[in-house]
Amino acid sequence: MNDKINLYDLSFEELTTFITDLGQPKFRAQQVWDWIYKRFALGFEDMGNIPKAFRTQLAAQATLTIGAIVDELRSNDNQTKKVLFQLPDGQYVETVLMKYEKRRTLCISTQAGCAMGCVFCATGQMGFFRHLSVGEIVGQVLYFAHELAQTGDHVTNIVMMGMGEPLHNYERTLTAVDRLTSPDAFNLGARKITISTVGLVPAMRRYADEQRQTPLAVSLHAATDAERDKLIPVNRRWPIAEVLDACRYVVEKTGRRITFEWALINGENDTIEQAQALGKLVQGMLCHVNLIPLNPTAGYGGAPSSHERVDKFQEVLASYGVSSTVRVRRGIDIQAGCGQLRDRHVQG
Ligand code: SAH
Ligand code: SF4
Repeated sequence: MNDKINLYDLSFEELTTFITDLGQPKFRAQQVWDWIYKRFALGFEDMGNIPKAFRTQLAAQATLTIGAIVDELRSNDNQTKKVLFQLPDGQYVETVLMKYEKRRTLCISTQAGCAMGCVFCATGQMGFFRHLSVGEIVGQVLYFAHELAQTGDHVTNIVMMGMGEPLHNYERTLTAVDRLTSPDAFNLGARKITISTVGLVPAMRRYADEQRQTPLAVSLHAATDAERDKLIPVNRRWPIAEVLDACRYVVEKTGRRITFEWALINGENDTIEQAQALGKLVQGMLCHVNLIPLNPTAGYGGAPSSHERVDKFQEVLASYGVSSTVRVRRGIDIQAGCGQLRDRHVQG
């Protein structure tokens, strides 16, 4: 176990207290903060404007890492890279970097495991271990920011689509978002961070009330309760009608378009009936549908839909005036799907 304090967990005020408690002047807090959030230092030795004695003192008491890197995989085309971190208490966290043209999109985790149990999802299949701390969420981004900076590059987008349900860990996730978007800290535009939720209705309403500007993606995957109940257990608690009401509330309060995520499973939720039901549900709403052919996982027998079925599904949606995009599965050769790298590691 590591009992050093992770500086990523601290707000600026907390860092100031930590540093002044060590007998240092206040301005050192600003210097250290800038090293963390503007220059992405991963250690104290780089901090050139900090006296050496204080750097040694910091290194003895604090860290700038969320854990050890225990696995690292690159896709064959080298455009996707996945890192598996092991946290001080032994938990695993996955983070994926996807390069696409000028975009550098990070897919980050908000929990170790997930409590929602969606049947097709590798993370859902492993169950819930614990929430990630603010620092463990922010630290995933800073790690890759550091790496990209080595070649003059930077993180352009973040999607909270790694392990975990972001809105189940609401407080820490949104504190991390605030840190990542704050001009005084990481300074990424709020619109560049997408939060994906399985549809936790009260949390979505809170999100709307806070008039959050980060785009929200909602994992719908089925347009009838009979079908969604089979895939997403939490649908029994907050069925489709309630999720859709909450979505409309988010659109109304934030003025921002909602994205619906739909993993197309062959012969399951890719039927013309499901497409029609979805068309009727979201017709006229400020929304967009992302269609992602299922990424097969060990614990679920479903297969991705064929091209023909994907095209047909999209065609039906278009007939309702509902826009959609078919997403390519990136990094499939490196288990870049949610939860899959940890699975491979833990199961040998
Ligand atoms: N818990 C959140 C965010 C993490 S999952 C949520 O569920 O939205 C990110 C996205 O990956 C979700 O849309 C989820 O449904 C999808 N997903 C999970 N497993 C998948 C799989 N095997 N194939 C395709 N998409 C998957
Ligand atoms: Fe959790 Fe999202 Fe996976 Fe469902 S799809 S089990 S909510 S991570």
